[in-house]
Amino acid sequence: MNSLLIKGCSIVTMVQGDKPFVGDLLIEGSRISRIADAIDQPADTVIDGRGMAAMPGLINAHNHASMSLLRGFSDDLKLMDWLDKKMLPAEARMTKEDIYWGTMLAAAEMIASGTTAFADMYVQMDAVAQAVLDSGMRASLTRGMVFLEDDGGRRMAEALDLIDNWSGAGDGRITTMLGPHAPFTCPPQPLSEVIELARSRRIPVHIHLAETVEEVAKIRERYQQTPTEYLHELGLFCGNHVLLAHAVHLTADDVRLLRGMRGGISHNPVSNLKLGCGVAPLREMTAQGITVGLGTDGAGSATTLDMFAEVKAAAWLQKLVFGDPTALSAEQALRMATIESAKLLGIDGETGTLEAGKQADLILIDLDKPHLQPVHDLYSLLAYSATGADVDTTIVAGRILMRNRQLQSLDWEEISREASRRAARLTEGL
Ligand SMILES: [Zn+2]
Repeated sequence: MNSLLIKGCSIVTMVQGDKPFVGDLLIEGSRISRIADAIDQPADTVIDGRGMAAMPGLINAHNHASMSLLRGFSDDLKLMDWLDKKMLPAEARMTKEDIYWGTMLAAAEMIASGTTAFADMYVQMDAVAQAVLDSGMRASLTRGMVFLEDDGGRRMAEALDLIDNWSGAGDGRITTMLGPHAPFTCPPQPLSEVIELARSRRIPVHIHLAETVEEVAKIRERYQQTPTEYLHELGLFCGNHVLLAHAVHLTADDVRLLRGMRGGISHNPVSNLKLGCGVAPLREMTAQGITVGLGTDGAGSATTLDMFAEVKAAAWLQKLVFGDPTALSAEQALRMATIESAKLLGIDGETGTLEAGKQADLILIDLDKPHLQPVHDLYSLLAYSATGADVDTTIVAGRILMRNRQLQSLDWEEISREASRRAARLTEGL
């Protein structure tokens, strides 16, 4: 079994009640075997962690990774123009190979900015799963299902193929969910079937919810309900583990309906800010005991997959909304990006904190930089000063995916060449 010893780093475990301390961390095989003030035993690889902070890898709870090929292609447009004139026509040209290389581009960005796991919803998920395997990352994958058109049956078959063929692949790095896209793209009949299937086979569900006011109006017109009431009445929250993306426009009654739900909400503040969607009611959600993690949404809208940007945006937004700098602390925001997101993916027993016995998914942040000195409070530095570019080393399941900012599992030159060639073809003439 390979061993890796990281010596003399500032360790931020993100375990509730733990304070950062300087110490050593030993990884054996895919797991953390010891964390202590000093570990003196030989290891196959030793990393000098002095001047570095070690923390759990960041977990992106909502992504459409392959949309990275469309990053920055249609920013600053009205939502419907963005979608109808730009995104949908470009996406219609995407082949399975494009989706593979788009996901590889996203994986390179995520590894380089300290993300070790992500939840993804898209189509042609075999290609996404292959990219997850090849990159060495961890992911929860979902075949997104839109049921407005004719062939819902094919979508369900593909969704089940993904679950049957890929769950547990890569020594457990890949997990899967069912992905009905959103209340406004899933009528009651097919959505009920998905919910029943999720319940009978104990499959988690990943779905968008109440991202925009337009969506809320559409559902109210069709069903005289809020989107949350619509999902609740169909029984989605009865026992199923559910990952809700966005949940921006929730009433106080909606939030109460979600009390006691398994899973929770992926808050995606950068995307919500950039598209002018609104601010999710975080305080009300957490007051009801609902788990809230952080995600980016696809780079086609968010433009960046840097989770450090989400941490900042989440904290800033709550402080702004409540006119209160104590509304969401640096530590709380970092917790959302790690252990709380892990709960949403259902992998908190394996990752999300640094603890002996857990999977070794962690990052080292180089603190020897002007914007990260002096070190009064590591949580503050990591939340408010650090960016993804400060990540020096990224490790998933004990395997080093980036060291000294050099990608180890991916060939960046090849990814860059493939991504720019394919992105040009997808957007030509649009
Ligand atoms: Zn999304």
